[in-house]
Amino acid sequence: MGKIMLTGDRPTGKLHVGHYVGSLKRRVELQNTGDFDEMFVMIADAQALTDNADNPEKVRQNIIEVALDYLACGLDPEKCTLFIQSQIPQLCELSFYYMNLVTVSRLQRNPTVKSEIQQRNFEASIPVGFFTYPISQAADITAFQATTVPVGEDQLPMLEQTKEIVRKFNSVYGDTLREPEILLPENQACLRLPGIDGKAKMSKSLGNCIYLSEEPEEIQKKVFSMFTDPTHIRVEDPGKLEGNTVFTYLDAFCRPEYFEEFLPDYANLTELKEHYQRGGLGDMKVKRFLNNVLQAELEPIRNRRKEYQKDIPYVYEILKKGSEKAEAVAAKTLHDVKEAMKINYFDDKELISSQAERFKAE
Ligand code: ATP
Ligand code: MG
Repeated sequence: MGKIMLTGDRPTGKLHVGHYVGSLKRRVELQNTGDFDEMFVMIADAQALTDNADNPEKVRQNIIEVALDYLACGLDPEKCTLFIQSQIPQLCELSFYYMNLVTVSRLQRNPTVKSEIQQRNFEASIPVGFFTYPISQAADITAFQATTVPVGEDQLPMLEQTKEIVRKFNSVYGDTLREPEILLPENQACLRLPGIDGKAKMSKSLGNCIYLSEEPEEIQKKVFSMFTDPTHIRVEDPGKLEGNTVFTYLDAFCRPEYFEEFLPDYANLTELKEHYQRGGLGDMKVKRFLNNVLQAELEPIRNRRKEYQKDIPYVYEILKKGSEKAEAVAAKTLHDVKEAMKINYFDDKELISSQAERFKAE
């Protein structure tokens, strides 16, 4: 078994530029290096239902949105298996057995789950399924024996939890599962891209996103409304870069060639930042530049999406084929897991014959 990649997204909305820099862009790069023996990308509808149980229609409608965003970004179904989580029943079975290897207090310590519980106002009424989603994520990753999981920083605790489950499983039942490695973005700004409101994370649930499929006017409107440095009032005032969303986005998206194309007065981002910090550079000029950068980055994605939008049945066909392939792989892992746990009674000739002997002797 060689290098295997698995990752996914919740169909709770269209994908946004945080997804793009946090994980999607990396997936496409990994796909195109050809270094991986298998690549799986999952639309995590079952996970989305853990905090959207009363709104299944939202999840159902967003599956196609996520699939279109994948294809628009360049994921190629010939090289990368795109599938829908709920169509792989083996994932539930694996989760059920992994639940025995994790304590409630361990789950309660998960910082991402903690902050998501707060964000959703669950506090005293946390759905059990939501609380245990790190376990189901371990099932998703291990079902494909993934070695590499490219995700944003918020997923670190999930990967830790998965590794613990793998170690525990292998030590109790014998070597069966592989430990995955997290692959975080190298660019600091992309680890956890803030929302346009400057809040810690751009997130579908927080409504502070620039979506990959956004029309040019909407992108511009959002960029122009972006949070900057509230103390930078007049152009001549010195400006701060920390917490300044416009500069964080430039760190995440700007390529050197964009200066020549859109802002030839500056040689690079360092010069632009120095001028801003010194004073004498207005927010609007920086925002106009960022708008140009984002328009250039998003235009090809939006155009490709429009092409795929013309053939929705084809997109579902891709997901169906991908789900069939994913199910076969997960079934193999589940078989190995049940064998390791010795709950493969009917295949276990030794068990049956030794018990037959025992009862004969009685
Ligand atoms: P939700 O609010 O429904 O949880 P989300 O916007 O957090 O949605 P997910 O589907 O939970 O998106 O995340 C999918 C992937 O994108 C994960 O790998 C996650 O780490 C990454 N990701 C999401 N938001 C960001 C962000 N703002 N910056 C970097 N990576 C991100
Ligand atoms: Mg999330």
